[in-house]
Amino acid sequence: MEVLIIGAGIGGLTLGLMLHRAGIACRVFEAAPALKAVGVGINILPHASRELCGLGLEDALAKVAVTTREYCFYNRFGQFIYSEPAGRFAGYDVPQFSIHRGDLQMALLDAFIARVGADKLVTGWRCTRVEHDGDAAIAHFENAAGQPLPPQRGAAAISCEGIHSVLRKQLYPNEGPPKYSGINMWRGVTRWKPILTGASMVRVGWHHPAKLLIYPIRNNIDPEGRQLVNWVVDIETPQYQARDWNRRGRLGDFIYTMDDWKFDWLDVPQFIRSADAILEYPMVDQDPLPRWSFGRLTLLGDAAHPMYPRGANGAAQAILDCRALADALQAHTDPVAALKAYEAKRLPATSEVVLANRKAPPDAILHEVYRRTGDKPFKNIDDVISREELIALLESYKRVAGYDKERLKVRG
Ligand SMILES: Cc1cc2nc3c(=O)[nH]c(=O)nc-3n(C[C@H](O)[C@H](O)[C@H](O)COP(=O)(O)OP(=O)(O)OC[C@H]3O[C@@H](n4cnc5c(N)ncnc54)[C@H](O)[C@@H]3O)c2cc1C
Repeated sequence: MEVLIIGAGIGGLTLGLMLHRAGIACRVFEAAPALKAVGVGINILPHASRELCGLGLEDALAKVAVTTREYCFYNRFGQFIYSEPAGRFAGYDVPQFSIHRGDLQMALLDAFIARVGADKLVTGWRCTRVEHDGDAAIAHFENAAGQPLPPQRGAAAISCEGIHSVLRKQLYPNEGPPKYSGINMWRGVTRWKPILTGASMVRVGWHHPAKLLIYPIRNNIDPEGRQLVNWVVDIETPQYQARDWNRRGRLGDFIYTMDDWKFDWLDVPQFIRSADAILEYPMVDQDPLPRWSFGRLTLLGDAAHPMYPRGANGAAQAILDCRALADALQAHTDPVAALKAYEAKRLPATSEVVLANRKAPPDAILHEVYRRTGDKPFKNIDDVISREELIALLESYKRVAGYDKERLKVRG
């Protein structure tokens, strides 16, 4: 019997490719009537990149993504705080990619169709619940009009449904709404000439008045050699709307916080005002769950562990889940035991990332500088914070999220 994968997002398609590699039959059911390249920027950090490169996708990704060269940090006066190399430039054996979510999803989809087969992916099938019947998981579906479709039997059902998972709701009907961090985010993409190295992931300022993250996600998009540059503005505010990846945002709601951010390396207001489109999304997550696997049903990716998107780890952790689940299904003949083994490996690890994203994300550096300078320009960064402290703050997050170099060296 096939494994039923619910959702053809980043996790669902990656899982399909990994199960196929392991010789395990699967089928993917996607609610959307067709897969379109939606979203804006996503980062594939070395721990996830290693898994995708292991699937033979490095060339396909390198063609559409930007190979990230460095991370750098500035205060809101445009003063340089710290930078360090990323991916292969930092000595990892794989690159780091900054990529449009749609380009990543399409690269995974092309590989899925070529390897697993177009008939193993159905669209317009929205899962409504999963039950058990003897030795099978039975998934129930409806079409876009809400009419029931034939139930499907599988060896297991894996919810890769993302943050709006109905199967998580089935398992935890009383969980309550997502938890708002107090920070609202405006996101967008701007066509712009290369900033700094042209492959820099740049973080500027702190949430009060605003923090800005910028990284390019497509190279050479026009004859002038401009890039598609992703940006995210975080602002501390009690005002927010329910989470929806596609909600439009308004420039006037946030641009005033950065009117004077005119640096010698970027005119921020002009850059933001030139955006193609602006989206708004609240920084929310949910408390880690005590359990994901119930018989032949389990959760994966955002359905299992929605997290603040401030450590660039949402897609990466979903990809690591896929590897652990494919390994477990290969190692255990009993799917129920496999799903439990997967949960034992990934639930504690991802819970730590959810909590670290709340308390000690990589941008904690910027908070520390903001706090120590009283949000004023500094004369010399070494008088504010030592290089060792900066490195220690970043390394501690890498260890929790699983992409410190020592860890990647020892993993198979
Ligand atoms: C439209 C959209 C835009 C996004 N944009 C960004 C972005 O710009 N930046 C960023 O960092 N992250 C973005 N994300 C989230 C990001 O993809 C995830 O955080 C991460 O990649 C983990 O992937 P996932 O597979 O768990 O979930 P997702 O990638 O969210 O995939 C979930 C998939 O399941 C499908 N689905 C949901 N419910 C059902 C159901 N009941 N039955 C069948 N199918 C179902 C969805 O349509 C979707 O295709 C976006 C997600 C979506 C859906």
